[in-house]
Order: sequence, then structure tokens, then C-alpha cells
Amino acid sequence: MSDKYADPRPRGALKVVVAGGGVAALEATLALRALAEERVWIDLLSPDPRFWYRPLAVVEPFGMGRLHGIELAELAEAAGAVFTLGALASVDPGRPPQRLRLRG
Ligand SMILES: Cc1cc2nc3c(=O)[nH]c(=O)nc-3n(C[C@H](O)[C@H](O)[C@H](O)COP(=O)(O)OP(=O)(O)OC[C@H]3O[C@@H](n4cnc5c(N)ncnc54)[C@H](O)[C@@H]3O)c2cc1C
Repeated sequence: MSDKYADPRPRGALKVVVAGGGVAALEATLALRALAEERVWIDLLSPDPRFWYRPLAVVEPFGMGRLHGIELAELAEAAGAVFTLGALASVDPGRPPQRLRLRG
């Protein structure tokens, strides 16, 4: 079988979808990787491809900095996750396997 279609998850790893690309999502991803190590496969899902460092938006009008976005794919990789561009539409909390529906 071609590697292209192989499941990239480590054997037995639990798949975790973190919805969002803000501070909370990144903190959750980092904490999860640190606590669960290789026992989880983390998918970071956001409709925006960038993380925006918002405090700089306040000083931008005064010429003291510029609001800039950082590619979430790069941050996800550094945090040991993979990035998926998309929006979560709903979560079915029923019996496992729980189902997620993506928007669009
Ligand atoms: C101008 C400005 C200046 C600020 N300055 C400061 C400061 O100096 N210090 C400070 O502590 N805080 C500051 N804040 C507040 C800080 O930015 C927020 O508290 C912080 O961004 C909240 O993080 P969060 O991850 O909870 O939410 P957010 O940053 O709002 O992130 C939500 C994420 O969820 C994603 N998302 C939305 N819908 C979906 C969906 N259906 N599926 C998947 N993903 C989805 C969004 O694209 C986004 O990436 C500032 C805010 C603003 C607007």
C-alpha cells in the first residue's frame, strides 16, 4: 500500500481536534502536547490561516508597532500539531466516535 494513504497517526494515538486559532487554541495545543506527549494526534482547525497578535493593534495608530499575523500552519508544526483550514459547524456529543461537521 502507498504511504500516501497511510494513517499518519502514531499507533493508538487519540485524535484531538482543537477548534480555533487564537491564544486559547494555541495554549490548549501546547499543553496537550506537553501532557499527553505522543498519545495524541492534534489537529488545529481554524477558518483564518493566521494567528493575530492583537495587542499591537492598539499601538499601531501611534506608529509603535504593526498588527501582524503569523501562519497557523507554522505555529501548529512548532507545537506538534497539524493545521487544517476550516470552520467547525457542529459537534455531535453522542456515543463514540463523536462526529464533527465542518462548515462550507
Ligand atoms: C485590539 C485588541 C487588543 C487587545 N490587547 C490585549 C492585550 O494587550 N492583552 C491581553 O491580554 N489581551 C488583549 N486583547 C484580548 C485578546 O486578544 C483576547 O483575549 C484573546 O484573543 C482571546 O483569545 P481566544 O483564543 O479565546 O479567542 P480569539 O483570539 O478570538 O480566537 C478565536 C479563534 O477561533 C476561530 N474560530 C471562530 N469560529 C470558528 C469555528 N467555527 N471553527 C473553528 N475556529 C473558529 C477564529 O478564527 C479565531 O482564530 C486584545 C483584543 C483586541 C481586539
